[in-house]
Amino acid sequence: MLRKILIANRGEIACRVIATAKKLGIRTVAVYSDADAGARHVAMADEAVHIGPPPVSESYLDGVKIIEAALDTGADSIHPGYGFLSENPDFVEAVELAGITFVGPPAKAIRAMGLKDAAKSLMEKAGVPVVPGYHGENQNADFLAGEADAIGYPVLIKARAGGGGKGMRLVEKAKDFKSALEGAQREGKASFGDPAVLIEKYVTQPRHVEVQVFADAHGNVVHLFERDCSLQRRHQKVIEEAPAPGITAEVRAAMGRAAVEAARAIGYVGAGTVEFIADGSKGLRPDGFWFMEMNTRLQVEHPVSEAITGLDFVKLQLHVASGEELPFRQEDLGISGHAFEARVYAEDVPKGFLPATGTLEHLRFPEGVEFARGPVRIDSGVRAGDEISPYYDPMIAKLIVHGPSRAAALNLLQTALAECHVAGSVTNLDFLGALAAHEGFARGDVDTGLIARDMDILVTDAAPPPEVPALVALSSLGLLTPPQGDDPWDRLTGWRHWSAARQYTTLERDGTSVEAAVTVLGPGQYGIEVDGTATELSILSRNGSRVDYVLEGHKTSLHLVRTGARVTVFQAGRTHDYLLPDRLARADEGDAGGDALAAPMPGLVKALSAKAGDKVEKGAALIVLEAMKMEHTLTASRDGVVEEVFVAEGDQVTDGTVLLKLEAEDG
Ligand code: ADP
Ligand code: ADP
Ligand code: MG
Repeated sequence: MLRKILIANRGEIACRVIATAKKLGIRTVAVYSDADAGARHVAMADEAVHIGPPPVSESYLDGVKIIEAALDTGADSIHPGYGFLSENPDFVEAVELAGITFVGPPAKAIRAMGLKDAAKSLMEKAGVPVVPGYHGENQNADFLAGEADAIGYPVLIKARAGGGGKGMRLVEKAKDFKSALEGAQREGKASFGDPAVLIEKYVTQPRHVEVQVFADAHGNVVHLFERDCSLQRRHQKVIEEAPAPGITAEVRAAMGRAAVEAARAIGYVGAGTVEFIADGSKGLRPDGFWFMEMNTRLQVEHPVSEAITGLDFVKLQLHVASGEELPFRQEDLGISGHAFEARVYAEDVPKGFLPATGTLEHLRFPEGVEFARGPVRIDSGVRAGDEISPYYDPMIAKLIVHGPSRAAALNLLQTALAECHVAGSVTNLDFLGALAAHEGFARGDVDTGLIARDMDILVTDAAPPPEVPALVALSSLGLLTPPQGDDPWDRLTGWRHWSAARQYTTLERDGTSVEAAVTVLGPGQYGIEVDGTATELSILSRNGSRVDYVLEGHKTSLHLVRTGARVTVFQAGRTHDYLLPDRLARADEGDAGGDALAAPMPGLVKALSAKAGDKVEKGAALIVLEAMKMEHTLTASRDGVVEEVFVAEGDQVTDGTVLLKLEAEDG
């Protein structure tokens, strides 16, 4: 058995591998770039080795440094995760030359599948159905155009070295072929250093169905059933599931057999995935799927297969790498229930899935288990306070749910997504929520065009219901506190003659400012007018970010997080960001040393001894606040000129309300 493993990766997959290694008593070594010194995978590992600056070419792709790190720490094995060096046969050879076990397939098997064109020829020979097309050496543009005509439009041009949806062009008509070819070649050259392409028949209404395989070094090869990854944007997976909806036992057996043949044909060892494209126009058929490519590594979406098979794939990988036999035969394996995975990313969906960055000021996942099977599973490489940097994949988490049926699992997915709260960066959570609620998806009517087709219903910028800005207004004014039962002062709040006084604030959403006016109606009870819409609600309780309130006789709740001038509200599976004007942001910080003077406690403004324009000295008395039958004198924190006074004598104010502001000091 392996004793000490180095994980040549970062993020969630590094954490995932470490979690299983720990369970098996295997010691773990992380590697990290400068950008990841404080990252979760580093914290989780027993040891960590710094391997260079943030760019991947100088750290996570630097095989020499990684092997040195393994030798230095006495690691006997390297797990590559996915991406990075996981499918680099030269790296595998170098690892083995150094006397270290590579947790993955032999270099030869990776090479066989490394280029899409060669892999297709090989698969054809092995009797695996392959998408009709041209995958030969001739790269002459006129020749390729002739091949495309022969195949029949629409066709797909793919960079033969491509991956992650890059270097791919769909061509609908012959006249567009040449420019699409140039595009694919350019992208292939730029991203993979290889301009060569292949041409395939474009399967209309395609479904992406892939089969998980496992092989040991003793000639045993099994498949662990299929996953449907048809929910894609720009050829990249968004939500995956297992098993594939609507698949029959006959199709499953045919696909499984083809996948096992594919693995056998290249002498595969370890975990791998054979990806098929299937014609979804008339349901999945035994003669309606074709080999696309094989991924010779653990796949991002492996947890959905772990869920339905009850196996830990990393544990299996480690056993196989230790030279052990697979602990089962094909006939021992079965499917239990249904699972989904949603990939939570820091990305701006309306802006074309633009990757985003930011500090995850607030991060809350639904209750569940991490890196292991359960009804709700969260695999994440980040914690609250961590940064999504521009250097790496902007994944925040993978959310995996497992239920007894597809409908049950889908329910879980919807609830769990709504309970994922991220503040500090834009995310695709609203989009994932809309996708999980998509009717076609619920019916299992999936194909790779679904997202692009229904983008307008999946991305809405519909205004939030009125209670959302209403509660933000309360937060902005420091009124978002429930009445506190036995405290005599609190019971008085709002009951006096000043209760009818209105307080005003400004909220900004998507660059548009709206005015809000709040009237205290009773203990914890408010009337809020935002942009002409009136809402009445009572605050019942606050617990962390959660606010419970009563609206029109209904008890309900949402979550609200305030970071500096930003208020993020999570309600009904949607995230809403608001900005508060400066003075209120300062009030929140209670910044007594700055320009604003905020009430340190709830109270009554008893006396005002300054007005706008007054010159004041540090320590001068400005406002007398009466609270709990005592008077508190609030003084100037520095010399300055009073810019504005926001309260009048007799005003009731709450904790944090800004009372007065000094003019900003000159630079
Ligand atoms: P799958 O493994 O299911 O095919 P993708 O192809 O969408 O999933 O994602 C794998 C890709 O993610 C890699 O090819 C690589 O571009 C990128 N990647 C590499 N390393 C990491 C990492 N540590 N975390 C997240 N993504 C990574
Ligand atoms: P990558 O290496 O980027 O994963 P793949 O060859 O696996 O590239 O294809 C990625 C995606 O492109 C598939 O999941 C599917 O959505 C689409 N695709 C690939 N080949 C075809 C095809 N022949 N017809 C229709 N769609 C295809
Ligand atoms: Mg693929």
